[in-house]
Amino acid sequence: MGATNFDSPADVERFDPRTKDVGGIPVRRTLPRRTHRTVGAWCFADHMGPMVLTGDHQFDVAPHPHIGLQTVTWLRAGEVLHRDSLGTEQPVRAGECNLMTAGWGVSHSEEQPVGERGDVHGLQLWVAQPDTTRNGEPAFEHHAALPKVELEHADATVIVGAFAGTTSPARRDTDHFGAELTVRTGRTTLPLDGSHEHALIVLEGAIALDGVPLADSQLGYVRPGRTAMTIEARDPAVVMLLGGTPFEARIEMFWNYVARTTDEIDAAIASWNADDGRFGTVASPLPRLVSPTRIGAG
Ligand code: MN
Repeated sequence: MGATNFDSPADVERFDPRTKDVGGIPVRRTLPRRTHRTVGAWCFADHMGPMVLTGDHQFDVAPHPHIGLQTVTWLRAGEVLHRDSLGTEQPVRAGECNLMTAGWGVSHSEEQPVGERGDVHGLQLWVAQPDTTRNGEPAFEHHAALPKVELEHADATVIVGAFAGTTSPARRDTDHFGAELTVRTGRTTLPLDGSHEHALIVLEGAIALDGVPLADSQLGYVRPGRTAMTIEARDPAVVMLLGGTPFEARIEMFWNYVARTTDEIDAAIASWNADDGRFGTVASPLPRLVSPTRIGAG
């Protein structure tokens, strides 16, 4: 072991999640971070469960607005009913990708289907939209089947973008990707794009990323410049690998809004709370949420 070189921080930065309450259930949030507001265009990551549902309305999230981002809902277990202001009503199940593009404005609810019981486990991710699309039309896509690629001791499902030579059909507006890896015992080399920065989030079990141990919803961050990394597991594990070209702009985030300025956020808050039509209407039995306002906003 050599002496610590303070000019050259570890290749893998490890971060613990913060526990937050979303719709009445605890989630572990690993993005955004003070030092990493974005990883590629990925700007938000909430890990929910695994937990067991025993009654109705345990994870209902009532209608709320978004601007300037895409939501990527990814389940490992359970089912969520998505309804949005485009008229979409789409259940999301394990292994399927639900991708909503907010653009200038969209609203949606995420509901526990009536009678749904048992395990629920998943990840909600947000992707910041670039200037070319962030003020554009909202959109929704659902991908029930996604491409898989086999590595040495892991199988990857490519949810968005391209990984290990395999490309997802899901829309993307920037050069970013997300892949779930089901890791078997052993050591696997991950092929990476050297122009990307990367984050790996542990969903189940424990692994070592280039020798740095990660478990329990922890996130490992890796700067651009790496064309390969190793992942090693003693027991089976599941991780989410996110990457992309460092994002074009510093984003402002508040509640469910991603923008460039606080003025843009204050305008969205005012529109949603006035229900002025910008965010449409969600055909949900749940009452729409009230947007919090920014402290210090006029
Ligand atoms: Mn949402």
